Amino acid sequence: MTAPDIRPSLGLRPVINVSGTMTALGASIVVPEAVAAMTAILPQFVEIDDLQRKASAVIARLCGSEAGFVTASCSAGITLAIAGAMTGDDLYAVEQLPDASGLQDEVVIMMGHMVGYGAPVEQAIRLAGATPIVVGQPTSARAYQLAGAISEHTAAALYVVSHHTVQYGLLPLDEFAAICHERGVPVIVDAASEYDLRGFLEAGADIVLYSSHKFLGGPTGGIVAGRKALVRAAFIQNGGIGRGMKVGKESVLGTMAALEAWEKRDHAGIRAREQRALDLWLSRFTERPGVTAVIEPDPTNNPLDRMKLSVDPEQAHITAWDLADALARGTPPVIVRDHEVEHGHFFLDPCNLHPDEEEIVAARIVTELETARRSNTIIASPLIERRNRRAASLAKWPD
Ligand SMILES: *Cc1c(COP(=O)(O)O)cnc(C)c1O
Repeated sequence: MTAPDIRPSLGLRPVINVSGTMTALGASIVVPEAVAAMTAILPQFVEIDDLQRKASAVIARLCGSEAGFVTASCSAGITLAIAGAMTGDDLYAVEQLPDASGLQDEVVIMMGHMVGYGAPVEQAIRLAGATPIVVGQPTSARAYQLAGAISEHTAAALYVVSHHTVQYGLLPLDEFAAICHERGVPVIVDAASEYDLRGFLEAGADIVLYSSHKFLGGPTGGIVAGRKALVRAAFIQNGGIGRGMKVGKESVLGTMAALEAWEKRDHAGIRAREQRALDLWLSRFTERPGVTAVIEPDPTNNPLDRMKLSVDPEQAHITAWDLADALARGTPPVIVRDHEVEHGHFFLDPCNLHPDEEEIVAARIVTELETARRSNTIIASPLIERRNRRAASLAKWPD
């Protein structure tokens, strides 16, 4: 890092993020181009609709869409895109929401796509005043189920692309979109974390949504890209329910800068750097008793590999979740990707590392493993308490 670290002066712990792009940790490392753009625009007045016109052109070029705009977050984008599908260009209807009387107000979504990304995706649907209509079962969805769920009340269909969703048994996007389009229903794709800026529109999406603050390394924001009339209908929600999801000039310009930086980014160089971190970890952990390290590709085919570290408590004298907790508690705190830790493994994601942090991560893990090996008993705390920890902490916040 070039700038001095502001965190100690704020009394904040200098966390090292090997969990991925997490809102709870501040999302991603914002690229210098976006930081510079935001600094330049913050003291100036601009005509926001014009700034968003410029954003539309950049988004259109990068995503291959007719139009686009920047909103507060991908989650806001879901709500605004659905609201737009409900109101069209009717400004009166825009002010009426979330009261959906007289409007098409149903949104079809496959059950295997009903994920949480920090909040339930169906809540982003309901915020517009719409009602989610669930298609299929958690691990299966068939064409007749989607077709049957569509009616004259259907405003839109939502399709989620994410490692959070069920990865088998569901309808692929092209088939999903064909069924919707035959019935005149627009398809909105939540691709918040997906590196592919063009593929979902090419596969039949009418609107695709991305987070600015994930792989792009932009400021907190969301990108709405797609067909012009639908993008415009989503954009005019800023005079309605979108007001509470307002985006500032700095995030609009910062997102544009991050998109343009993405175009010029040395993707191969970044991949090679991530590979070096994975190789280093592999070399440090392979001979350790009780742990097995393997490299796994990203489940949704983003160009990104992660290390899966499996922990055998008998050998390592610690469970995977206690190891994750020890890493998070220590100095410096190392936050691993632990969403399936009850299976006895967690992941190390190299995509948000500052230079040399991979060494610190390796050293912290080795130290914790050595400490555990010296323990005469197996460190194994109940998972149930861990699962409820966040709720317990929120009950006391801000203390
Ligand atoms: C992160 C994420 C979101 C939310 O994105 P924000 O821009 O943080 O609102 C929505 N959907 C999926 C699949 C995500 O991964």
